[in-house]
Amino acid sequence: MTLQTVAAFDRIGEENAFAVLARATELASQGRDIINLGIGQPDFPTPKHIVEAAIKALRDGHHGYTPSVGIKPLREAVAADLHKRFKIEVSPDRVMIVPGGKVTMFETILMFGEAGADILYPDPGFPIYRSMIEFTGAKPIPVPVREENGFAFSAEETLKLITPKTRLLILNSPANPTGGVTPKAEVDKLIAGLEKHPNVAIMSDEIYDQMVYDGEKHVCLLSYPSIRDRLILLNGWSKTYAMTGWRMGYSIWPDKLYEYARKLAVNSYSCVNAPSQYAAIAALTGPQDAVGKMVAEFDKRRKIVVEGLNKLPGVSCAIPKGAFYAFPNIKQTGWKAKALASALLEDAGVALIGGPDFGILGEGYIRVSYANSAANIQKALGRMGEFLASRKAA
Ligand code: PLP
Repeated sequence: MTLQTVAAFDRIGEENAFAVLARATELASQGRDIINLGIGQPDFPTPKHIVEAAIKALRDGHHGYTPSVGIKPLREAVAADLHKRFKIEVSPDRVMIVPGGKVTMFETILMFGEAGADILYPDPGFPIYRSMIEFTGAKPIPVPVREENGFAFSAEETLKLITPKTRLLILNSPANPTGGVTPKAEVDKLIAGLEKHPNVAIMSDEIYDQMVYDGEKHVCLLSYPSIRDRLILLNGWSKTYAMTGWRMGYSIWPDKLYEYARKLAVNSYSCVNAPSQYAAIAALTGPQDAVGKMVAEFDKRRKIVVEGLNKLPGVSCAIPKGAFYAFPNIKQTGWKAKALASALLEDAGVALIGGPDFGILGEGYIRVSYANSAANIQKALGRMGEFLASRKAA
């Protein structure tokens, strides 16, 4: 039998972090002591009042379909939260509740990508951007995110890449995998430049917006009126409220695109599961102290991880300003990044991700997630030090 499938599926990529997680779990099940610095999810439980709200929703009988765009009180809570944090006015009728942050990028890239179109995306960056662009047949145009620039994007370099073929620009700050935060002055410059390109849509992935350090203030792109009619905001509950497994995200869309997104929902997942939506209301409207505590703990570990990485032979690491990742430069070790990540997992029991899994410009770097205890991070750094001191580059 020869099944004739769509060629696009030969082009779709994936997220290697899941493969590393699977291998780390397999090694652990064989009795190996594995420290996981590969995973991009908080190592904290979802705060109790959020879990209770989901349980209550089930007990109260919220077992059925909800509107495809999400229940109104949740959309209102999202709008109120954006107003509280950034003084931004958003109509709840532009808020779409989606099953995880990824769904917004999936839908956005589907809306703009096709053969003949260019889509700009950060490199190194979240791997699904490129994967989905290739899936649609559009041409992926990497926007370099450079270490010497603090892993912020450069307005000048980004604007230079725009051509009449450019349909969509994807931005991400605070960023995965680098922890880079783009300063407001650079964002201002970029937005001013984008005013000359009114046909380019912008998707701003702000899923790490509450994880910023050293007094940095997150800049929400919804605060720029000149791009509001072509901006898609991606955000969600996964990282801020330690809710990765709940699959809860939201997006803000301009009018016409909102209708498209709603129809995509109707054609695929119908709606997000009801109890999670009630939990998400509790997350936004309830006490925020668990978020503050988690971010303070990440901040402590960030300093431990950067100090430790900088002591390793051949490794240098700039201090990341956001998210929960460090992206050390390993060029002086002589190792290729993926070979090093693999050898560290197999031989030293430390799981992390090679930079090339985030794009061509990721070579020479590894991603270290500090979503693990300070004690485990110290232990992992010790193992990495011994490994690098004793093993020649493969
Ligand atoms: N955007 C970025 C930059 C991410 O790092 C992630 C998850 O790692 C997502 C989006 C997707 O989040 P979710 O798990 O809510 O789909």
